[in-house]
Amino acid sequence: MRKKSNIMNSMTQETKLTIIYILVAFTFSVLMRMIWVYQFEDLEAFKYAGEFMINTNDGYAWAEGARDLLAGFHQDGDSSKINSAVAQLTVILVNILPFSFETIIFYMPVYISSLVVIPIVLIARNLGNLEMGLIASLLASIAWSYYNRTMAGYYDTDMLNIVLPMFLLWSIIWAIRTNEDKYLLITALDILVYRWWYPQSYALEFSFFGLILVYTLIYDRKNLYNYKLLAIMILAMLNLDGFIRLAFVIGTFFIFKQEKAQKYIYHILAISVILFFVSGGINPIIGKLKSYIFRDVVSSSDNGLGLHFFAVMQTVREAGQIPFETFANRISGHVIIFILSILGYIYLSFKHRIMLFALPMIGLGFLASLGGLRFTIYAVPILAFGIAFLITELASHMPTKKLKYLSMIALTLAILYPNYKHIDGYKVPTVFNSNEVAVLDALKLKTNRDDYVISWWDYGYPIRYYADVKTLVDGGRHGGSSNYPVSFILTNPQEEAAKMARLVVEDGGIEQITKDSGFKDTNDFLLSLQTEIDLPKKTSDIYLYLPFRMLNIYPTVKIFSNMDLMTGKKFKTPFFFISRNFKDTTETIKLAQKIYINKRDFSLSINGKRVGIKRFVKTFYNKNMKLEKDIRFVDSSANLSVIYMSSYNTFLVLDEQTYNSLYMQLMILEEYDEELFEKVIVNPYVKVYKLKL
Ligand code: MN
Repeated sequence: MRKKSNIMNSMTQETKLTIIYILVAFTFSVLMRMIWVYQFEDLEAFKYAGEFMINTNDGYAWAEGARDLLAGFHQDGDSSKINSAVAQLTVILVNILPFSFETIIFYMPVYISSLVVIPIVLIARNLGNLEMGLIASLLASIAWSYYNRTMAGYYDTDMLNIVLPMFLLWSIIWAIRTNEDKYLLITALDILVYRWWYPQSYALEFSFFGLILVYTLIYDRKNLYNYKLLAIMILAMLNLDGFIRLAFVIGTFFIFKQEKAQKYIYHILAISVILFFVSGGINPIIGKLKSYIFRDVVSSSDNGLGLHFFAVMQTVREAGQIPFETFANRISGHVIIFILSILGYIYLSFKHRIMLFALPMIGLGFLASLGGLRFTIYAVPILAFGIAFLITELASHMPTKKLKYLSMIALTLAILYPNYKHIDGYKVPTVFNSNEVAVLDALKLKTNRDDYVISWWDYGYPIRYYADVKTLVDGGRHGGSSNYPVSFILTNPQEEAAKMARLVVEDGGIEQITKDSGFKDTNDFLLSLQTEIDLPKKTSDIYLYLPFRMLNIYPTVKIFSNMDLMTGKKFKTPFFFISRNFKDTTETIKLAQKIYINKRDFSLSINGKRVGIKRFVKTFYNKNMKLEKDIRFVDSSANLSVIYMSSYNTFLVLDEQTYNSLYMQLMILEEYDEELFEKVIVNPYVKVYKLKL
């Protein structure tokens, strides 16, 4: 009797500690994410309706989906992500919590990503080392890359992308160690939730499945439990609707509980595997492999014109060149912590072989060195176990209890410090500032939900969220062919741009328009835009959203339409130079190291060569915040013009083509053709025009 009650006491003691450690780590994780909030508390530019705005562009896609789910409707072809798990979870939270929509989407990543501490502490508990769980969860919850992708306002799938596989790892470890039936169900349910949340989760699920299969065949072939686990996992991974998979999982779980079923486990596993292949469960893997092997093949439809578009990858830095230090920092906060973490993980796996089941997450994390920095977060919690294990091992060798805890605390603070420093310095701005959102707010009142707002893809999701309209491009739709017409509209003269806008909204992509206009060559079609052509019937209004911030990326915007679509040949890069760091002296204005404006004769000196200026334009806002401009014609034979935007403290040097582009004329100069456009809303940050065609 006495012995039993002792066990009970120690059990509750361990459970108490588990709960306390989870709460401590969770609170710590949340508080560290409040540093950003505290830093920008008084900055109204980051707020909308008195609340912080989010700081990830993609977040506005989920926000739009959630808004439409709550409203109960959306428009055909508006690309609203009402079927996304993030939007669905948001709706649930909005319905049960007493906070505003804006508050909920801003703080969701703070609280939800902090849940990662739970599986970390629970895994450590299984290994009989709760202190390791506390230390690992403190580090993992705030480590560099995990913080970056789950900070306040980072409203994206990342908030659960580590939490869910960590729970999966936890239930797999407990399943293998205890062989308890409930972990069969928990593992399968976790896979269902993970797949709902993040459809690309199959990569990790398969890796876990493969590891368990290998483990079973080599070390534990006679254990029926392992085959049950494999069967229920693969049923959760069928390529069928989530609710059908849920029914399969629950049904199979109850069959497994039947005494009579035990002799049929192999049959059930075999049937599950067959169902898996028949349902097409392997398809995502095959698709992925294909995309790697046939990476360079560009598909082109048979009856198409075989157009060549600009490949977006060309603007993204070549992957695979991430410096080791960046990689290490992002996983552990510091190179030394990273190296010790790897050694610690090896040592931990040696002492507790079960931790080898975490290898798929490390593997995915290390893919970052090939596939992009965003993968580093997968390695964060596992390597946090590594360093935490080293710390607890070291501390356990201390001569006294006091020294043991002191060393543990000191070393834990040491590994947290570089990550805290990172958080303190990581002052990410919101996607839009309040002046930009004010424009969209006003625009919402003037538009219908089926109207189009044309702007560069970077602004697509936020425009749709705040103004509740349609866009041509967004953060998920910005391939070469989607970007082409938008790039064309923003960087070509007003008349061609206006016609292109109406054509692309009513008719579709450039290929479609070319064919429907009776041309076989896009160049002939583009030439026809300079003539009188019949435009399709107008079905919705079209607005142009022209933010000042687009000035910085003008050359990138131009690239997408600055090419011959028939041959793929690029045209000459237009001249565009921007200077904010100029120096005014008596003789010259120095715009950059080798670019000067000579004040005496209003000429430019570029790399030591004298170049004429066609116009010298000075713009400024008067006291009523109306844009005014002085245009001085200098040399009519010259090609370059200089625009001094005095209110923005910015100099531009542009060639004639760029000067005449829609963006420069409408945004920078407010020089619009009243036959084609109507001024709708203007402030120094954004100008919105309505198409009259
Ligand atoms: Mn809509």
